[in-house]
Order: sequence, then structure tokens, then C-alpha cells
Amino acid sequence: MKYSDGFRDPAAAAYLTRRLQAAAARMSRPMHLMEVCGTHTMAIARSGLRQLMPPSIELLSGPGCPVCVTPAGYLNAALALARQGFIIATFGDMVLVPAASGSLEAVRAAGAAVEVCYSPENALHLARAHPDRQVVFLAVGFETTIAPIITTILSARQNGIENYSLLCAFKRIPPALSALVADPEVSIDAFICPPHVSAIIGSQAFQPFVADGLPCVVAGFEPLDILYAVTTLAELLQAGRSELINQYERVVRPGGNKRALALFERLLTPVDAEWRGLGAIPDSGYGLARDAARYDAGERFGLTVGPGLDRPACRCGDVLKGKLRPDRCPLFGHACTPIDPAGPCMVSSEGTCSAYFKYVQ
Ligand code: SF4
Repeated sequence: MKYSDGFRDPAAAAYLTRRLQAAAARMSRPMHLMEVCGTHTMAIARSGLRQLMPPSIELLSGPGCPVCVTPAGYLNAALALARQGFIIATFGDMVLVPAASGSLEAVRAAGAAVEVCYSPENALHLARAHPDRQVVFLAVGFETTIAPIITTILSARQNGIENYSLLCAFKRIPPALSALVADPEVSIDAFICPPHVSAIIGSQAFQPFVADGLPCVVAGFEPLDILYAVTTLAELLQAGRSELINQYERVVRPGGNKRALALFERLLTPVDAEWRGLGAIPDSGYGLARDAARYDAGERFGLTVGPGLDRPACRCGDVLKGKLRPDRCPLFGHACTPIDPAGPCMVSSEGTCSAYFKYVQ
């Protein structure tokens, strides 16, 4: 048996399912478990795990897709720069995201320079290749993606690259989860914590939720990882215990990645941030620290990023809070598809609507 087969072993799946059903049968009320990470959402949909849940366990998808939570106002600022002749460098998912003012794909079709990057280093190469143009990288991401993006600041400095900057929409996961827990319209009993984010900030970052009575399990991405996490959370909830369990020890340490966190300390400063669906959340983002401010496109080019307007009738905000299943959005599957998306949750490879469209409907 290959190593990877161990995470898809049918006997292990059957064993965990029996444990899950036993715990669920003893529950006095329905329990809502939120998978925070967009890659978990995609894995759950792809492997059919949601259909395996007993009636008393509901899996809610959270705000763990960075493209999806980035508000329309940010996209408007990027579109304005593209129309003014800047070279916009971006990860691919951002290109198709629609806003009331258009999309990067549309401005590219009209002649603007919008370049898809597979790594932040690609954006630096663009800046080197076009010394007479300003290159702005769309710095969208959670703690996981932030480290490689801000590393480009060090490279730009080292190599004297002056025509490069970041339009920052960095987001921090724990403050967003706190906002969700405090929202009276949202009911969450436990978290399946995001593994890649946890690898950076450490599993201990979720201890405050456990102290507030919400058990947390850090889980890997394989179907059995997720099933094990759900089973563990169901057993903890049924027993009335709130604990933090790191089931992804092969990657995640309690204290996280010290080198990445030191880089955050050096180059970033916490800022209030606007999230699609969740609104403005104090200290839920990172901006560039004073020392790195010359690489901040907002500062450098006098940009103001507001919340912006989404397409009318798009319910991505509710989907991102776990309040609405994608297939209950009136646009799902006819007026909103991956080919012609009405909102970012249908565009992104980590988007909940995209996961439902591909695997659930
Ligand atoms: Fe937004 Fe489309 Fe999802 Fe509806 S189906 S919430 S419009 S992405």
C-alpha cells in the first residue's frame, strides 16, 4: 500500500463513520461544525463527505477563500490602476471576479496589462522586465500566502527594483472567526481549523475559541483527515468537552512557523480590514509597516479602497458566513456559473459555490 493510500483506506473510513454516527445519535440538538478553509470545502465536496453526515451534524463552509472575502472596493482600485496603464500582476482567480465596475478579464480584453502570476516572484520578474512601467501585485491572501508575498519586498530591496509595489488586502483568520462567533445570525459549535494558516500561526492561535467553549481540531486535507476531525469534534461536543486537538502534526506546530512570524513582525502592521459579508473587522488585516511603506501601492499612488458594490442579488456574503448554502442562492447554476460567475464564490478554486457547482448539485 502506498503511503497516500493510508488516508483513503475504506476500513478506516467505515470505522470513523461508525464512531461519528454513534456520537451523533447521542446528541441532544443539531451541531454546526464550520470548516474554515476553502481547500477543506473543496475536499469535502469532492469526496462526498457532506452526504455522509448524520442528520444532527451540519458542516458549514466558512470565510476561508481569500479571493472570495476580498471586497469589491479592492477590485475597483485594481481596475482603476489597470485602466491608468499600470501593469497588474495577480494570481489567476482574481482575474475573473466580477464587480459592478467590471472585471480584470474585461479590462485586459480592452488592452490593459493584467498578468497572471503563479508565484509572487513572477511579479518581480515583470518589474525587472519593464523598468519603465509600474508593476502592482494584487497582494490578496491569508497568513499562508502572506509570507511568500512579502518576501518579494526583501528581493526588491536587495535588487534595487523601484517600480514594484503591493496592493495589500492581507487578512488574518482568527479575528474573522471571532466576528463570526459574535454574530447572532450565525450558529457555530466547533471549528475545523485551517491547516495551512495553522502551519504559519500555530495551532495555539485557536486556543481562545476553545476557552470560549468551541472545540477546535486542526486537520489535514485528505478525506480521512477531515472525517477524523469531524468525528473527534462530534465526540467532544457530545461529551460536553472543549479541547484543541492538532491532528495535522505532520505539518503544524503549536507555535507555528517562527521564521514566517518574524518576517510578519518586521514588515507588517495589524490594520482593520473590510471582508465581503463580514464587514469591517478590527485588526483583521495586515498592512505594510513603516519600514516597507514605499512598497505599498495604496500609499504610493494615493489609493483609497472602500467596500464597493457587489452585483445585485449576489449572496456571497451570506455564503461566506455559513448562513446560506450556495444552491439556495437564487442565481446558483443558471445566472451564476463558473463560465459566467456573478460572484467570487463561484470563481475561486476555493470558493464554496464553485465546490457545490462542481461536485454537489
Ligand atoms: Fe454569489 Fe453566485 Fe454563489 Fe450566488 S451562486 S452566492 S451569486 S457566487
